[in-house]
Amino acid sequence: MATIEIDKVSKIYHGNVPAVSEVDIRIADGEFIVLVGPSGCGKSTLLRMVAGLETISSGTVRIGDRIVNDVEPADRDIAMVFQNYALYPHMTVRENLAYGLKNRRTPKPEIEARVAEAARMLELGPYLDRKPRALSGGQRQRVAMGRAIVRQPSAFLFDEPLSNLDAKLRVSMRGEIKRLQRRVGTTSLYVTHDQLEAMTLADRLVVLNGGRIEQIGRPLDVYHAP
Ligand code: ADP
Ligand code: ADP
Repeated sequence: MATIEIDKVSKIYHGNVPAVSEVDIRIADGEFIVLVGPSGCGKSTLLRMVAGLETISSGTVRIGDRIVNDVEPADRDIAMVFQNYALYPHMTVRENLAYGLKNRRTPKPEIEARVAEAARMLELGPYLDRKPRALSGGQRQRVAMGRAIVRQPSAFLFDEPLSNLDAKLRVSMRGEIKRLQRRVGTTSLYVTHDQLEAMTLADRLVVLNGGRIEQIGRPLDVYHAP
């Protein structure tokens, strides 16, 4: 587990107006922060800078006690969950869950234990030997989350993970993420444009507008502000 410190972080795409302007967010160990705001306000850019998928124009990002501005994404000890869950189509669910750990030479019994634990948490037990094409959209999204969980990262980054799902599934997956959050307690930064998702999941909400923080606070304080 770890804190994430985003300190005066800006992003300017070649000569344009800043997409993100001097944003400060301190995410406590185990805290779940949801980023909301209108389309184009900089949510995805900010998340991608924390992930290391986008360079930081100025400011610093710390994960734990390490400044990660120049650290490769794979070495940041974070896991991302995207909306277009990229599962390997030719691998079973079990293999999809294990693959990243195998690449890191995690011992086999450890891999099996982590896969079993993730499968139990996400109720994927009955599907472990299926290929992704034989799963529903919600099950695939659960496998994508499972792949993040088995890594046991210091933090999770979510980029609108539920936005490709239909409304009913979104509601149930929202509940599932909430349960996971209680159970795993991992520091998280979650981007969404869905207000209910934000209300349900956030310990604190950050409202971005035009690349700047407009509001930051507990969900009820933000949404019921005068
Ligand atoms: P959001 O995720 O809130 O919709 P983005 O972070 O995607 O917002 O975009 C913030 C701003 O940066 C927008 O004005 C967008 O057009 C711009 N932008 C995003 N990605 C790029 C890019 N690769 N090159 C230039 N401008 C970009
Ligand atoms: P996989 O691509 O199957 O997850 P790899 O370890 O080969 O397994 O992943 C390729 C690179 O991407 C690795 O360096 C890994 O650290 C990183 N990576 C894989 N999955 C994630 C994830 N969910 N979030 C962040 N980084 C990831």
